[in-house]
Amino acid sequence: MNVTFKLLGTGAGPGVPAFYCRCVACQEALDNPRCARTRSGALVTVGQETILIDASPDLRSQLIRERVESIDYVFLTHWHYDHFGGLGDLEFYVRLKRFEPLKLYLPSQAVDSFNKAFPFLADVFELKPWCFGQVYNFNGLKLTPLPAAHGVETAGIFLQNNKKLAYFTDTADLPVSTAEKIEASDYFICDATFYGENWYPQSHMSLWEAIALGKKVKARNIVLTHLSMHYSRPVTAAQLQQELRAYDNVSLSFDGMEFKI
Ligand SMILES: [Zn+2]
Ligand SMILES: [Zn+2]
Repeated sequence: MNVTFKLLGTGAGPGVPAFYCRCVACQEALDNPRCARTRSGALVTVGQETILIDASPDLRSQLIRERVESIDYVFLTHWHYDHFGGLGDLEFYVRLKRFEPLKLYLPSQAVDSFNKAFPFLADVFELKPWCFGQVYNFNGLKLTPLPAAHGVETAGIFLQNNKKLAYFTDTADLPVSTAEKIEASDYFICDATFYGENWYPQSHMSLWEAIALGKKVKARNIVLTHLSMHYSRPVTAAQLQQELRAYDNVSLSFDGMEFKI
């Protein structure tokens, strides 16, 4: 079965540019939309079926940009606004086109929060709390939520088809059991929120920490995502590309980046 994994968004919470900021990174993205980053999420296509991983507040514009016309499942990695804020964008797709509830896999600790935040979506989604370590099979694609280190209950998504891809959008250094399971993945797509000092070492990584972790888990290719570009030290994409030339298996993500697995 052909499986593709596409990054819908690759930015941290504020997005790039942030509307309130004119640092070099935000200015670069204003001047060149290819450097802009919507909030993080991904779309997995398995044959005719699609699995949306996270519903960022930019979801509608992401789905339009990528010409996505249907979604079969939604999988939330964790309950933070930059990952669930776009759930409401799916309401009219379900009511006016799909006519049956969408299965929403979410952290069990997020069920109450969902019900409080979105009472008007009660009949739009069928809630399915996911379990760490359980292998979910989608037409032969194995999808396993594995524990990440992010404060709230958070999964990284481990995909196994012809190739192995580990997507850890929000995490600090990985728990040992997780690191062992994803060892020697073909693609390790990893939280690299900070360029300068890491303000949140318990829940995010700097670019350099992400690269070190990728080497530790023997990833064949390390892809940096959830980039703030402008928290403790602003940096342009052009400058980062330049610095990453020193590594032969590390690349910077961009919105719309696709992986065939
Ligand atoms: Zn988060
Ligand atoms: Zn996030």
